[in-house]
Amino acid sequence: MSLTITLPDGSQMDVPEGITIIDAASRVGKRLADDAVAGKVDGKLVDLATTLHDNVNLEIVTFDSNEGKEVYRHTASHIMAQAVKRLFPEVKLTIGPAIEDGFYYDFDSPRPFVPEDLEKIEAEMQRIIDEDLSIERSVVSKNEAIELFKVKNETYKIELLDDIDEDSVSLYKQGEFVDLCKGPHLPTTKKLKFFKLLSLAGAYWRGDENNRMLQRIYGTAFTKKSDLDNYLKNLEEAKKRDHRKLGPELDLFSIHEEEAGPGLVYWHPKGATLRRVIEDFWKEVHIKNGYQLVVIPHIARSNLWRTSGHYDFYRENMYTMDAGGQEYVLKPMNCPGHILIYKTHTHSYRDLPIRYAELGTVYRREKSGTLHGLLRVRGFTQDDAHIFCTPEQLISEIVGVIDLMDYMLKSFGYDEYKIELSVRDPEHKEKYLGSDEEWEMAENALIDALAQRDLSYERKEGEAVFYGPKIDVKLFDALGRPWQGPTIQFDFNLPKRFDVNYVGRDGKEHHVVMVHRVVLGAIERFVGGLIEHYGGAFPTWLSPVQVKIISITDEQIDYALQVENKLESAGLRVESDTRSEKLGFKIREAQLEKVPYMLIVGAREVKNHTIAVRLRTGEDLGDMNIDDFISKITTEISEK
Ligand SMILES: [Zn+2]
Ligand SMILES: [Zn+2]
Repeated sequence: MSLTITLPDGSQMDVPEGITIIDAASRVGKRLADDAVAGKVDGKLVDLATTLHDNVNLEIVTFDSNEGKEVYRHTASHIMAQAVKRLFPEVKLTIGPAIEDGFYYDFDSPRPFVPEDLEKIEAEMQRIIDEDLSIERSVVSKNEAIELFKVKNETYKIELLDDIDEDSVSLYKQGEFVDLCKGPHLPTTKKLKFFKLLSLAGAYWRGDENNRMLQRIYGTAFTKKSDLDNYLKNLEEAKKRDHRKLGPELDLFSIHEEEAGPGLVYWHPKGATLRRVIEDFWKEVHIKNGYQLVVIPHIARSNLWRTSGHYDFYRENMYTMDAGGQEYVLKPMNCPGHILIYKTHTHSYRDLPIRYAELGTVYRREKSGTLHGLLRVRGFTQDDAHIFCTPEQLISEIVGVIDLMDYMLKSFGYDEYKIELSVRDPEHKEKYLGSDEEWEMAENALIDALAQRDLSYERKEGEAVFYGPKIDVKLFDALGRPWQGPTIQFDFNLPKRFDVNYVGRDGKEHHVVMVHRVVLGAIERFVGGLIEHYGGAFPTWLSPVQVKIISITDEQIDYALQVENKLESAGLRVESDTRSEKLGFKIREAQLEKVPYMLIVGAREVKNHTIAVRLRTGEDLGDMNIDDFISKITTEISEK
């Protein structure tokens, strides 16, 4: 008996019934078989050892695809777990997925791992690879699996099995090592070529701080040595730019986990200056674009959150407090507050659009395991705005937001971004609020607005939240890494829950069209991204200190202070270093502080009424008179 398989290019091939995917790949070409990491049968990802018994569509998955990378690196995580069990038999296994750029495995270890352990584990992994163990899938009943892991005393696996609803589960075995796993995996350990263990971290079981702290080991794996080397080099560069390292070094912010609680940011004078510059710019741009600034309190009675629905659907993320028998909530969102302001008046269609904007601080109880420097925090300020408009105004409103977003992102040096349009799943309309008409209107408005600005986007079917479609923008930083950026989110829910209306041309009341939008997202995360994008060397307009005046000897202190006064009067942020230290030492310090301009003043400069201008890169611009320097730097600042 023979079967016909159809390959992705449409070509067909007759093969004997029962052939394995890897043998089918060999018939296409040796190169493809060598590169194969898994197969895709009628769209389903499976092991290469899978046998074929029907006419199917077959795709050979290689490391080049995201799915291929996932299979490859997930196999690396199994090999790492096997190595850990060989070296430290008392360690218990939990889970070990592939992640973007690598993999990890969480272990319950009586003793925390140390960096030297990673070297031992790597050596053992290499041994397991050299042993060329075949990796075999088996399907057993859930009870059999529970018995097996009981014998091995793998209590976390039993807990995972208890949560599985199916009667049978799949196991993957390589040598003496067995793991509960959906797969697929590489066919043998030797298929894993180049890997590196990268770091250690603590992580709570299931991300819950009430559970035991586990030991997480991160690693990555590639098929080519040059790719691994490149990745490691980029990682070094990223480490140098890590905002958690640069933030304290540049004296921008601190987080006091023990004394004040995790995920709460304390802004130091220089960090607060950076924030103020960003916020002033943000306010100026928004006012120019027809937004009205509003301010709302940080707490509100729980009734308000019952009306909005957050009390029922979002409660575990909210901080609540009892005030004399009245329950209050620390606001996790700004929207209900802006709605209350809108509703203090009756609005006619002629009053719309109304755009309320606020740098609104919110508090959310994020799980402690997910907190990360400035990127994921519990108290943060959203650059929030809500647009209330009529359906006819929608496209021009969205175009307005897109233009404003484009202008702001480019001002911050993000020239590259990618747009994703999340729409509802047409097969499951029942999962969403709002009528077909509303969804079509909103989705089309987003599409038309993007078309008007000639912007390409990726359409994500079924990725919309239940209350409306949205646009997400991803920014790319100087290292090419993606960052979460602006969002434009429709809302068919709150206008109904709060009865947010306007009086139309027909004299009747209609629900407004409501759009939530942020450009920067959270100021905290945005600043974290900016620090890494610029490696702490901010452009002059953003630099907390723009100019440092450095005297060569004590003779020039008076002159240095005169120059400082003159620059400050021109609106510049200036510091003077008049300490009796060596000039080279003072210059190096200013460079470490990443101050864009250093003005050196010695006897000659005093005599000529000039300054010697140096950049933080070490470049020497030579002597200038003070007025020329002021006009040069203020032009640079106003042009951003
Ligand atoms: Zn697995
Ligand atoms: Zn909102």
